[in-house]
Amino acid sequence: MNLLIIRLIIFAVVFFAGLKIYRIYREWKLEQQGDDNGTQHEGGKMVRCTWCKVHVPEQDALRERGEWFCSSDHRDKFLAEHSDDTPDDPKA
Ligand SMILES: [Zn+2]
Repeated sequence: MNLLIIRLIIFAVVFFAGLKIYRIYREWKLEQQGDDNGTQHEGGKMVRCTWCKVHVPEQDALRERGEWFCSSDHRDKFLAEHSDDTPDDPKA
């Protein structure tokens, strides 16, 4: 008789513990999926590097003088080439 009660108690404890772990796991998984989707949606915009014309995600790109660049190297090259240019019409 005692053994049956102990078995019932163990079964109940295991059952509720499993239920709790399952709920925590499900919440954690939903949170991770939500985070991933949010990042993908916000970082989904692509911009083009003015120097090499390669498309890069906006969060990885650098912005300078209204132009986008894939790396600081390309930004520096662009600025070096255009630093001598005056805003006036060079053809005139
Ligand atoms: Zn580039």
